[in-house]
Amino acid sequence: MATIFSRIVKGEIPCYKIAEDDRFFAFMDINPVAKGHTLVIPKREDDYIFNLEDDEIGGMMVFAKKVAKAIEKAVPCKRIGVAVIGLEVPHAHIHLIPITQESDMDFKKHVKMSEEEFIEVQKRIVENL
Ligand code: AMP
Repeated sequence: MATIFSRIVKGEIPCYKIAEDDRFFAFMDINPVAKGHTLVIPKREDDYIFNLEDDEIGGMMVFAKKVAKAIEKAVPCKRIGVAVIGLEVPHAHIHLIPITQESDMDFKKHVKMSEEEFIEVQKRIVENL
């Protein structure tokens, strides 16, 4: 069965899309740790990031870099933090999180965002790509 992220790529489940190319896809995390929290995934399903081939994991990081640069410009922050957890959704993904201090990467804390806010932040990130 397709993962929830594959269904997002296919457009079967809605998302706040940020970017895509032939191999990768970026969209906003629905339960963000910080405003601008974005996920980058390979379109090809694989449960575990460190099972990806060198070329695929390398390509995903280059794709994530472009997205991170856009988030950096769109959201006030010092850096974009990068995390891989992967315990919830069995489809490899990288978390990109705008941070100003270490504690901003706390996955036990979440920020509430209204639909309007998601759309506004999405728009700002996309404009900066
Ligand atoms: P993890 O697998 O532990 O790295 O966590 C999966 C992440 O995917 C969590 O941060 C969720 O909030 C996020 N997530 C799960 N379902 C969706 C969805 N439908 N749209 C956007 N983000 C999602």
